[in-house]
Amino acid sequence: MKPMGSIPADYRARDGVLMIGGRTAEGWAEIAGDTPLFVYDLDIVRTRIARFRAAFPEVALHYAIKANPHPALVKAMVPLVEGIDVASEGEAAIAIEAGMAPSHISFAGPGKRDRELRMAIAAGVTINLESATEGARALAIARDLGVRPKLAVRVNPDFDLKGSGMKMGGGAKPFGIDSDRAASLIREIVTAGADYRGLHIFAGSQALSADAIVEAQRSTLTLAARISIEAAAPPPLVNLGGGFGIPYFPGEVPVDIEHVGSALGGALAARDPILAQTGFAIELGRWLVGEAGVYLTRIVDRKDSHGETFLIVDGGLHHQLAASGNFGTVVRRNYPIALASRFGAATELEASVVGCLCTPLDRLGDRIGLPDGRVGDLIVIFMAGAYGASASPTSFLGHALPGELTIDGDRIL
Ligand SMILES: *Cc1c(COP(=O)(O)O)cnc(C)c1O
Repeated sequence: MKPMGSIPADYRARDGVLMIGGRTAEGWAEIAGDTPLFVYDLDIVRTRIARFRAAFPEVALHYAIKANPHPALVKAMVPLVEGIDVASEGEAAIAIEAGMAPSHISFAGPGKRDRELRMAIAAGVTINLESATEGARALAIARDLGVRPKLAVRVNPDFDLKGSGMKMGGGAKPFGIDSDRAASLIREIVTAGADYRGLHIFAGSQALSADAIVEAQRSTLTLAARISIEAAAPPPLVNLGGGFGIPYFPGEVPVDIEHVGSALGGALAARDPILAQTGFAIELGRWLVGEAGVYLTRIVDRKDSHGETFLIVDGGLHHQLAASGNFGTVVRRNYPIALASRFGAATELEASVVGCLCTPLDRLGDRIGLPDGRVGDLIVIFMAGAYGASASPTSFLGHALPGELTIDGDRIL
C-alpha cells in the first residue's frame, strides 16, 4: 500500500457520507446530472481569506485566476479580494465580466500580443511589463488609443524562492525584466507620461517553507527599494508575489502563514523610506482555492489483474492532470483520495484508481488503501480546486468536459 496526502480538515462526514458544503457528494452529483464533476466550496475559500487577513493586516490580497478561472468562483471572489491578476486576454475578460473594476486588475505574462495589450489598455487594466520591448509596444498602443496607460514593471529577481515547486525568478527566465535593467524601463515609462503603478516581483510557486517565503519577501522589499532609488520613482504598489503552497502529498505540512505574516510586518516596519507611501499586495492562487475543490468521479468498472485491484472511474487525467502526476512533478505521489459513501471508514482494499483514458499515464491513485469500493460508488479526489479542469488536456481522447459547480452552503452560485 502506498501513502496518500492528507485530506484537508475542512471536510467531514454526516452519517458516514462525505459532505461538501450543505449537501452530500452524491447530492451534488445528482444536481449536476452527471459525473465527473468539480465542486468548489466558497465557504472554504472564505475561511482561507479570513486567515490571510488576520496574518497580513497591512497587505492587499490579489487572486491569481490562473489557478481556477471558473466564472462563478471568480465572481464570488470579487468582493473578497482587492485585486485580480490575469495572464491572458481571456482571463482579463473573465475578471471584467465577474465585476472586478479594471483598475484593480493587473495583467502579467510573457508574450502579450498587441491585440491583448490594446484590449487591456483600453479597458484600464494595469499591464505588468515583462520586457523593454513590451513597454515600447504598450506605449505606442496607448498613444494610438489616446489614453494614459497604467503600467507596472515585472522584475525577474536576482534570487529565487527556495523549495518552491515552480521557480519563476532568479537567473535566466522568460518572466519579467532582469533586475539591473528595471530602473531604466521605469524611467522610460514615467518620462513617456504613463501612469506608473509600481513593481511586480514573483519569485516562485508552491513553497511550503515559511522561512523560505519570509526570506524571499525580505529580498523582494530590498530589491524593490534598490530599483526605486535607482529610478528615482517611488512605486505606488509593490506586488510581493505569493507562492504559498498547499500540502498535496504524504508528509507535507501546511505553510505557517502566521509566522510569514509577523515576519513581513517587521520587514515592512523597517522598510526603506523610498517605499514609505507604497502599498503592498500578495497574489495567491492555489492557497486560496486548491483545498476548496474536490473532483468527483464514479467507479465504472472494478477488476483484478495479476493480483492487483483496479477501480476504473469515469474521470481521469484529462480533467485532473495534476493528480496523475503529469503536471510539473518529478516523482509520482498520491493525492488524498476517498470513497464518498463511506468517508472515514477503515481501509479494506488496496486498489489503484485509474481513469478511463487508454493510456498508462491515467492513474489517479496508485495502490492506495480504501474502504471496499464498488461499481457506482463515487471516488473523491481532494486538492482539486486549483490547476484542475483548466490545467488539464480536456480534448485528449474526446471525452466530455467535466461539470463544475461553485457552491455556498446548499446553493449553487
Ligand atoms: C501562477 C502564478 C501565480 C499563482 O501561483 P499559485 O501557486 O497558484 O499561488 C501568481 N502569480 C503569478 C505571476 C503566476 O504566474
